[in-house]
Formats: sequence, structure tokens, C-alpha cells
Amino acid sequence: MENDDVIKGGEFLIKETKAKNVFIPEEFDEEQQMIGDMCLEFITKEILPNINRIETLEDGYTASLLEKAGELGLLGITIPEEFGGFGKSFVTGMLATERLGGAYSFAVSISAHTGIGTLPILYYGNQHQKNKYIPKLVSGKWKASYCLTEPGAGSDANSGKTKAVLSDDGKYYLITGQKMWITNAGFSDVFTVFAKIDDDKSLTAFIVEKSFGGITIIEEEKKMGIKGSSTCQVFFNECKVPVENLLGDRQGGFKIALNILNVGRIKLAGAAIGASKRVINHSIKYASEREQFGKTISNYGAIKYKLAEQAIRVYASNSAIYRCSQNVEDARESMIAGGMDKETATLEGVRQFAAEAAILKVHGSEVLDYVADEGVQIYGGMGYSAEAPMERAYRDARINRIFEGTNEINRLLIVDSLLKKEMKGELDLMKSAQAVAKELMTIPDFSNVNNGVFTKAHDQIKRLKKVILMILGSAVQKFMLNLDEEQEIIMNISDMIIELYVAESILLRVSKLELIEKKNISEQIDIMNVYLYDSTDKINKYGRDALNSFVEGDELRMMQMGLKRFTKQESFNVKEARRRIANHLIKEQKYCY
Ligand SMILES: Cc1cc2nc3c(=O)[nH]c(=O)nc-3n(C[C@H](O)[C@H](O)[C@H](O)COP(=O)(O)OP(=O)(O)OC[C@H]3O[C@@H](n4cnc5c(N)ncnc54)[C@H](O)[C@@H]3O)c2cc1C
Repeated sequence: MENDDVIKGGEFLIKETKAKNVFIPEEFDEEQQMIGDMCLEFITKEILPNINRIETLEDGYTASLLEKAGELGLLGITIPEEFGGFGKSFVTGMLATERLGGAYSFAVSISAHTGIGTLPILYYGNQHQKNKYIPKLVSGKWKASYCLTEPGAGSDANSGKTKAVLSDDGKYYLITGQKMWITNAGFSDVFTVFAKIDDDKSLTAFIVEKSFGGITIIEEEKKMGIKGSSTCQVFFNECKVPVENLLGDRQGGFKIALNILNVGRIKLAGAAIGASKRVINHSIKYASEREQFGKTISNYGAIKYKLAEQAIRVYASNSAIYRCSQNVEDARESMIAGGMDKETATLEGVRQFAAEAAILKVHGSEVLDYVADEGVQIYGGMGYSAEAPMERAYRDARINRIFEGTNEINRLLIVDSLLKKEMKGELDLMKSAQAVAKELMTIPDFSNVNNGVFTKAHDQIKRLKKVILMILGSAVQKFMLNLDEEQEIIMNISDMIIELYVAESILLRVSKLELIEKKNISEQIDIMNVYLYDSTDKINKYGRDALNSFVEGDELRMMQMGLKRFTKQESFNVKEARRRIANHLIKEQKYCY
């Protein structure tokens, strides 16, 4: 890739990405596909036939499945070989996460173990800590949990009250406090625990083995969904943690927590898409079998709409996830080439794309909710039956909007991390916003009308970026440092950014497909056009809401005209496009994009 082509985190808003430089799921190589297939086979053989044993939390069962996953290498796909892993790329890890996302509540158990359970030690542990714990976690002999949340400290995680006090002989920290909602706690052997030493303002992380004593695990929470995922409160009562088990730096815990969550957010999006694909496959099959009024319901336009829309939204999220994952991988590789160690490079790569990670988390989790909700609807009464797969999928989906940072917190983060980059001089948003403000004063140039489908879509994306820059720039100017008091406006701007990023990701994917694929991609073009059509209207609506909330008079009129001009679009027969997409799904009898 040439230097000018390298897109840094957040730059999607101000720069054009070239299709040839994005990674698309159609480019997985043979080895990656093999790993993906291995994950699917594991679900088919080990999870689906035993779903009731998992869901009833049969003693030791999920733990034994994690051990089996460990034997197959599924717990160490991206872990360096020196610790028993396969040492594969971030993108390959994402593919495995996506595939395993279809494992209902086991998906949460495995991703908590390999993600928030294992990664704090891998990324922040010293060599001794990594040597001691990572091979055990990769093999599945030991299981891991992450203890950040407390009854009084959820979204505001740094406000936790758990305390760590050095023992008189200076050999131990005595940890006392209460953690709640801890995934895998029912069977974990090792916990990353966040606590404050003495009167520190910020958290410190500790590696805590269950065998250290002073730990009480309270019975399993009764939850709405993911019933097979263990979730407990964990009490620490003067738990004796050797000083050498302090992880990273004193008061460095909050940074660890945030950086681990960045990785978790991208992964959650991948898992959500894996779960969505399973729901779509069930939806297609049911719609093709269930007959009413003498025809299978898949013949009805109302049902075709649902099937197509499920597939369009999943395609959208999927395109964005792998685009971003490859960006992270590229950033990581270039830092490794510059001498950085692999783990720091992965963290730094993800940190650079923190805004995109939050976008993916919100979009992926909301797509899954939509897909599961419409899945229930396609099943009708059977969708409400605990005997059919939709009811579980619907209940399991909901948690994704809550953990790894609620979607509200992630929406705030999107704007916050872009503005922080601007303040650090890493992203020149305001200069681009000023250029748009200037353009508003000029008469639009309609002479350069091009009818090519991709040229039109590229032009539309460019205009959507201008809308966002116009509104974001204006909001920053008006509220300055008080912008965070205007959450409704931030939510509007975030929603616009999410739609833009995802719509552009589809455009880039389909443009690249056109470059590399010889086969017909007319339905992918349909998907692109429908998504762009909807996202343009959504961006118009969010933009209007934002402008009406803080701009007045002549300035409002001028900006409303700009909004109209930048979100203008041609008529397009969305009904026929969705029908073509749905017909293809019905013909293939599975999600096939
Ligand atoms: C099944 C499950 C598994 C979990 N697993 C783990 C785990 O393994 N380890 C762990 O440490 N934690 C875990 N969690 C905790 C999870 O991360 C928290 O529930 C989540 O961060 C939200 O915190 P909270 O529940 O305290 O909600 P709150 O923070 O009280 O939020 C309540 C509502 O207020 C909103 N809100 C909060 N602050 C703001 C703000 N500043 N601006 C606008 N809106 C705001 C939120 O978006 C939400 O809508 C798990 C939770 C569940 C339910």
C-alpha cells in the first residue's frame, strides 16, 4: 500500500478510502476458511446437540466444553505460539469470533474467556505472568473472568470501591470488595480484578487465582437470556494476592480496562453477526416451509422485505467489521516493523481505531436485535415458543447492547474519541468542517453529473461526510467544551457517523468485489443501493433533529439547505431490489452474501 493510501483511525470522515485497499470477507484464504469451518463444526458437534445441558448450567459442562475448545486450539487462535496458540492475525481471530458467535450463550462463555479473561494478562502481563497463566488459559485447563463492574460502578467503572491494601510483611495485597455480573465466575480459576490501592484515585489490576482464598462466589444470576453463560457476584474478603500479581502499573488499571474493552467491542460486533447469520438461516428455512393461505409465507412481500432487510443489515455490519479489522492489522504490522512488541502493537492498533470499534459495537448489536426481532415475527406464534430456536435467539441478543459499554456510552465515545484526536492534532476535523461551511456559501455545481452506479454512490458518500462535518463543526463551535452536556445532539451526530461508516464500508466492499470477482454481483449492488438509500434518509433525519436543537434563524435556514443538498438522492425502486435479494436467499436456503 502506498503511504497516501494508509487510512488512520477516524480519517474515514475526512478522507476517501480506496476500494483496492480494504479487506473484504470474500478474500479469506484457505487457512482462514479452514479455521472458520473448524469453529462451525465445533458448534454443530458440541454445542447444538447439548444446548439444554448448557442452558441449565449443568455442573461442569460449559467448563468441559471450554476444555474441548482448548484441545482443538480454538482458545488460542491469535495467541503467540510461544504460549501454545496459533499466532494468527487479528482478522483471522475476528473470523473465528464471528463463527463462534452462532453458539448461543456458549459464545459469551468462550469470548469472555478468550477476550476479557485472557487478554489483560497477555497484553499487560510481564514475561513471568504470561508464562505462568497464558498456556493454561489457551489449553482450557484454566478458565478466566474479568472483574470490573460493581453494584455502584457500572458505566462509571473507575468509581469502584474494591480496595487493595498491602500486608504488613509487604508480600501481599489484601483485596476486599464486591464485583457483580461476572461472566464465567461460576467456574473460573483466575480473575483479573480491578481495585484501588489505599486512597488511589484510579484502579489497579491484579491477577487473582481462586485458590488464593478469601473469595466467595454467589449463586448464578437469573437472567433474561444467555442462560447458559455463568454470571455471578464475586466477593473478595481480604483475598491474599502476592505483590508479583499486580498487573501492569499501579493506577494503570483503568487504562487496561478501557483498552481491553476496545478489543472486546470489535469482537462483540463479530459475534453478533455470527449470531445474526444463524437467525437468518432459520428465518429463511421457516419462511420457506410454513404455509398460510395456500402458499409458503416466503411468497409474501411483507416476509420477503424482512428476509432481505435482515440480510442487508448483516452484510453492512460484516463489511464494516472486516474493513476495520484489517485496518487494525495493518497498523499493528507497521508498528511491529518499527520495533514494537506484538501485544503492544495489537493494543495500539485497536486504540487508534477506538471510534470505529465503538461504531461496530453499536451497529452490530443493534443489527442482531433487529434480525432476532424480525426472526420471531417470521416464525409468528412459533417465534414465541420456547420449543423453537427464535425465542432463545431473541432473548440472547439483548445483552449485546448492554455489556462491553452500553450503546449509549459507546455513542458518546464515538464523538469523544474523534474530538480527542482532533485536539491531539491527529485528525484535522475542523479544517474539513470549515471547508464545508465555505461550500455552503457557493452555488452548487450540477454540471458533473455521472450515471455510473459506483460513481454515484461515491458521490453520495462524499456528500454525507459533508453533512456530518457541517453539523459536528457547528456543534463544536457553539458548545466548545460544554458539548458533553448536549447528549441528545451527540447521539444524533453519532448515529450519523455510524450510518456513514457502515454505508461506506458496503460501497468499498462491493466496489472491490467488482474489481476482483468475475461473477454477477447485481444483488450486492442492490444491497449497497438499498442501504445507502436508507442511511441517507436516516442521516437527513438525525441531522435535522440536531440542527433544530441548536441552530436558529438565518444560520439554521442556510444549514437546512445544505443538509437538503447533501442528502439529496434519486428515486430508486427499493421494493424490487429487496425482492431480488430475498428471492436469492430463498433459492439458496441460507444467508449467502
Ligand atoms: C450478563 C452480563 C454479563 C456481564 N459480564 C461482565 C463481566 O464479565 N465483567 C464485568 O466487569 N462486567 C460485566 N457486566 C457488566 C456490564 O458491563 C455492565 O452492566 C454495563 O457496563 C452497564 O453498567 P450498569 O449495569 O451498572 O448500568 P448503568 O451504568 O447503571 O447504566 C444504566 C443506564 O444509564 C445509561 N448511562 C450510564 N451512564 C451514562 C452517561 N454518562 N450518559 C448517558 N447515559 C448513561 C446507560 O447507558 C444505561 O442505559 C455484565 C453484565 C451483564 C448483564
